[in-house]
Amino acid sequence: MIKFLDLQKINHPFETGFKKKLTQVLKNGRFILGDEVRAFESDFAAYSHYNHGVGVGNGLDAITLIFKAYLALGKLQKGDEVIVPANTFIASVMAVVNADLVPVFVEPRLETYTINPELIEAHISDKTKAILLVPLYGRMCDMNRIQVIVKKHNLLVVEDAAQAHGLKQDDNHYPKAFSFYPGKNLGALGDGGMVLTNDSVLAETVRKLSNYGSIHKYHHENIGLNSRLDEIQAAFLSQKLPYLDQENKARQQIAKRYLSEIKNSKIILPQWNGSDDHVFHLFVIRTEDRSRLKKYLAENNIETLIHYPIPPHQQEALKNGASLSFPITEKIHREVLSLPIYSKLTDDEVSKIINVINAYE
Ligand SMILES: *Cc1c(COP(=O)(O)O)cnc(C)c1O
Repeated sequence: MIKFLDLQKINHPFETGFKKKLTQVLKNGRFILGDEVRAFESDFAAYSHYNHGVGVGNGLDAITLIFKAYLALGKLQKGDEVIVPANTFIASVMAVVNADLVPVFVEPRLETYTINPELIEAHISDKTKAILLVPLYGRMCDMNRIQVIVKKHNLLVVEDAAQAHGLKQDDNHYPKAFSFYPGKNLGALGDGGMVLTNDSVLAETVRKLSNYGSIHKYHHENIGLNSRLDEIQAAFLSQKLPYLDQENKARQQIAKRYLSEIKNSKIILPQWNGSDDHVFHLFVIRTEDRSRLKKYLAENNIETLIHYPIPPHQQEALKNGASLSFPITEKIHREVLSLPIYSKLTDDEVSKIINVINAYE
């Protein structure tokens, strides 16, 4: 069986290092907001070319906290509208709703799966104050075009970078939210997240809000959350960070093979120009009869997943989305299938996946 993602294999090389770190943290006896979190915040920020990193509990909270910080700073008001991609993981949308803001969905381009800049302006109203960008599957958004719209309408930009660790940084340095969920390109052994920004005031506000609205113990200036990155997870992540580029390179190599060797008219492959604008968190193909392909691959011992089967606007959680219609998003959710892609996949396994797909009729 070729697993979709083998976390045992991915984490195995770090086992000795993890055990050393665990012993060290146990000896220190400090488990919350200590040296390990500080060190990883500064290392991950430096790696990503940002000035400030704030460790938080998970990716959803990282996005939510950026919006809540803008509310606390008076840059956003409750009820303001935020442009969000219709094609995304539900967490992007929930973060906006959690912060008492109103998500306004915009369709993606079918070729890139990320938000279609040509459609953004039609959705901008007097109440639109921000846009949430999602480099979905690890693919950079169309930043040149988006930047023009953002400037023209004076929008705040927030990035949900939960699928984009190590993705090439553009010049804008918009605040970014990361998740270290175990299956991400940089994954912890549990939950974790981080906010990156070059704005020191935003960083301090996120830090405060993530810790009961408090910077100085027992003085609370805001109603906050309790959403902090654990020392132990930060210590583990510090071990893995130096190998993130290697992980992403390996993913790109596998993507190159899939793109050049999969030849089947029933399969639509993702578009990629071979540059560093994609870190392939997921390798997502499309096909008309997805369930038949998924079953065929399973019969051939290849595990696949669907990212995602139901679009956010059709989720029960977002009841007022039920009347909305996003045909491109709905088509994507109907047709996508994710193939295995991670550093520990062997050449033989990749060859097998390619051969099995090429033999699909
Ligand atoms: C994983 C993910 C999140 C949420 O991260 P958690 O750490 O699980 O809360 C948010 N957005 C996207 C696009 C994701 O893939």
